[in-house]
Amino acid sequence: MPWNRPLIIGFLLVVLTLTWWRLQPDGEEVRRSRIIMGTVVEIMAAGQSNEALEAAVEAAFAEMERLDKLLSRYNADSEVSRLSQSTNGGEVSLSTAEVLTLGLAISQKSGGAFDMTLGKLKALWDFDKEAPTLPNAAELSAALSGIGPKALSLDGQQLRKASPQLQLDLGGIAKGYAVDRAIAILKQHGVANAAVNAGGDMYLLGQRPERAWRIGIQHPRDEKDVLETVQISNRAVVTSGDYERYFEKDGVRYHHIFDPQTGMPARQCQSVTIVTDSVALGDALATAVFVLGPKAGLTLLEQFPQAEGLVIAADGSRHVSVGWVSYQVVP
Ligand code: ADP
Ligand code: MG
Repeated sequence: MPWNRPLIIGFLLVVLTLTWWRLQPDGEEVRRSRIIMGTVVEIMAAGQSNEALEAAVEAAFAEMERLDKLLSRYNADSEVSRLSQSTNGGEVSLSTAEVLTLGLAISQKSGGAFDMTLGKLKALWDFDKEAPTLPNAAELSAALSGIGPKALSLDGQQLRKASPQLQLDLGGIAKGYAVDRAIAILKQHGVANAAVNAGGDMYLLGQRPERAWRIGIQHPRDEKDVLETVQISNRAVVTSGDYERYFEKDGVRYHHIFDPQTGMPARQCQSVTIVTDSVALGDALATAVFVLGPKAGLTLLEQFPQAEGLVIAADGSRHVSVGWVSYQVVP
């Protein structure tokens, strides 16, 4: 179920997360959406004949659906589920190895803030339940036992996990990787101008006629307000926020980005937006920076010259990396 969350949530995500500008009606344009990985994926492609665009978009969706089957922890037959059930890992496909390699690098560089071994914790919180509840301390410590960056290692396509109980969750990176692959397929089909948006994980290829793409970043506490606008071309824009999936109890917001040290929702940020060259990298970095908070998060970004970030801290204050200004559209 969770990868196929109700239609309405997906649509809300797309409508509320980002405002984006449409292509001018100049040449052919195809715009299609489909639910993949539990979110509405929207692909817009332009510049070729309608027929060629339709074929390209269809192939891009097919690749994302293939990856969903491989990487979903909700599909009992997926590679990720098989690895979670295994005693100590096993051989993985090239696609899964690519995701794991990047994820493990970010896990190490972020000191474990980004962690792909939170499968048990994710199941414990179960944000897809009708009425999610707070886990108790004993449940949290059981879910965190044995997790961390050292619990997984990859040698070529051989994944080793430290204990049979360890459960994988690639939810912080898989969607981004799938968007990268969709863009690669569109390019293979000769598409030069396209936008792929998977619930806030986006890539903007080429441009809309005559100028770069412009993306409005949603205010984390006012869904109708655009916080700021960036202008980009051939770049990923990824936002992780505490307003996407959460519940409130006794006035406290509980959301789905966890601090692996405590097993509780990370508390230092409202939202993090990363602009970089790959969506998978942006996805993992947005999650990592969200957990680390504005100070340590922006320090992490300094290790990635190709990535810039905008952080809205828990108190609503704005923090940016040095190069962020180069993408910003000044009103
Ligand atoms: P979204 O999926 O809404 O775009 P994120 O990219 O931030 O948001 O991913 C959140 C998902 O990542 C969670 O639903 C969970 O599956 C996983 N996750 C949660 N906390 C972490 C973490 N500290 N490190 C890696 N993945 C995480
Ligand atoms: Mg992420």
